[in-house]
Amino acid sequence: MTVRLRVAPSPTGDPHVGTAYMSLFNLAFARQQGGAFILRIEDTDRARFDASSEQQVYDTLHWLGLGWDEGPDIGGPFAPYRQSERLETYKPVVEALLASGHAYHCWCSSERLTEMREAQQKAKQPTGYDRLCVGKTREERAALPGFSEQPVVRMLIPNDVSLTFTDLIRGEVNAPRPDDQVLMKTDGFPTYHLANVVDDHEMGITHVVRGEEWIASTPKHVLLYAWMGWDQPQFAHMPLLRNTDKSKISKRKNPAARLTWFVEQGFLPEALRNFLALMGYSIPGDVEIFTFEEMVESFDWGRVNPVGPVFDVEKLRWLSGHYLRELPAEEAASRLVSFMGIDGEAADIVSRATPLVQERVATLLEAADMVGFLMDERFTVDPESAAKQLGPDSKPVLEAAHAALEELTSFTTVDVEAALREALVDGLGLKPKNAFGPVRVAVTGKTVSPPLFESIELLGKDRALVRLDAALQP
Ligand code: GLU
Repeated sequence: MTVRLRVAPSPTGDPHVGTAYMSLFNLAFARQQGGAFILRIEDTDRARFDASSEQQVYDTLHWLGLGWDEGPDIGGPFAPYRQSERLETYKPVVEALLASGHAYHCWCSSERLTEMREAQQKAKQPTGYDRLCVGKTREERAALPGFSEQPVVRMLIPNDVSLTFTDLIRGEVNAPRPDDQVLMKTDGFPTYHLANVVDDHEMGITHVVRGEEWIASTPKHVLLYAWMGWDQPQFAHMPLLRNTDKSKISKRKNPAARLTWFVEQGFLPEALRNFLALMGYSIPGDVEIFTFEEMVESFDWGRVNPVGPVFDVEKLRWLSGHYLRELPAEEAASRLVSFMGIDGEAADIVSRATPLVQERVATLLEAADMVGFLMDERFTVDPESAAKQLGPDSKPVLEAAHAALEELTSFTTVDVEAALREALVDGLGLKPKNAFGPVRVAVTGKTVSPPLFESIELLGKDRALVRLDAALQP
C-alpha cells in the first residue's frame, strides 16, 4: 500500500510554526515510504478566515523546502484541496448519519446553550450538550424555549464509545469522553471534525499525523469512520512545542510562533528544518546536526519522543550560525543579497563583504545589519557608539586618518592598514585600540563591525573620506 499523508492548516492568520513542524514529520515519513504528501486547506471556520494566510502557508513551507505532491495550488487526483470548495462532499455524509440515527438536528439557540453551560458550571457538573433536541421533531422542539430556526447537526455519542485508540508514537492512548459534537453548523458549513474525517477518507489518507491537541477529538473521528463503514487511518499525535517555561507556544504571546518571523529574522531554512526535527526526534548516534535526507533515512515513529519538546530559540540561532558558516561564500552572498532585497551596485558590494561577516553572525538579519553601512542609504552612526568613540579626543585621530588615506593612490586592505598604522600608531603613538576605535565608528557607524581595513577598502576612498569628514564636523 502506498502511504498518503497530509498537513491540513486552517488559514487563520500568519501560519503557526506547528504547521511547519507537522509538515516536516508528515513529509519525512511519506518520503521514506515512497508515498505522497498532501496539503489541504481547512477553511471551514469562516469567522476566523484570513484571505492572505493561504499564500503565506505556501510561501513559508516552500521557503523551508517542504514541498507537497498535491494541493490547492498544484491540484492532484483528489482536487479540490480547499474545504470551502468541497461542501457538496460533506452533505451526503450528514444525510447518511441522520438517516442511520447517529446524528440529530439540534435547534437550541446559542443563548440557551450558554445558559445551560453556565448552569452546569455553577452546579460543578461536567459541561456538555444536554440533548434537549434528541428524538424531537422540529415542531415539538419549536414549542419549547430557546429555539432557533436554523438547526445544527450533532453526533449522538453512544454510551459505549471507545475512548482508547492506538497511536504510532504513544501506543495505547486514553481520551476523555466526548460531547455530542456539532458536525454541520447553521451556515451549512461542516465543522473541522466532519470535514477532516470525510476528506481524509476521500483523499485516501493512510496516516493522520497531527498535534497532540487533537487527541481528545480522535474518539469522535474513530466513530465517524466506523459509522460510515470506512477504513480508519493510523494516528500519530506529535508533542506540542513548548516555550522554555513549558507553556504552549501561542501566536499571541510568542513571535516565534509565527512562521513568517523566522523568515523576517533571517534564520536559514535548513537550520529551522533541523531544529524542528530535533523537537522530539533524534537520528541514530544522537548527532544534533543532520539533513532532511538523513532524517528520512532513519525515520521511525518509535524514535519520536512524545514529551513536550522545548523550543529554545538560542539553539536555533546556534544551528543557523552553523549552517551559515558552512555555506559556500557565493551562496551565502546570494542569500544575503536576496534577504536584503537589493541589486546593482549595492548587491555587488554586499556580496564582496559577505565573507567578512559570514563567520561572525547567526542570521541573515545580523549579517545585513553588519554590512548595511556599506550603503549610504543605510549608513547611520549609532549614538551610543559615537558617545564612546567620537568625543573631542578623537579629533586628531580622525584628522590624521583622513590625511593618511587621502594620500593613498592604491587603496587595498594592505595599503589602508599600513597607512593607518603608520599615521596613528607610529605617528600619534596610540595603542591600536585607541587608534582604530574612532575610525571604525566614523566609517562603519558602530563599535562592532566587519574587519576595519577590509571594510575601508570595500567602502572606497571617496566615501571613507566623506565619512571621516562628517565625523569631524561638530
Ligand atoms: N485544521 C487542523 C489544524 O489547523 C488540522 C488538524 C489535523 O491535522 O487533523 O490544526
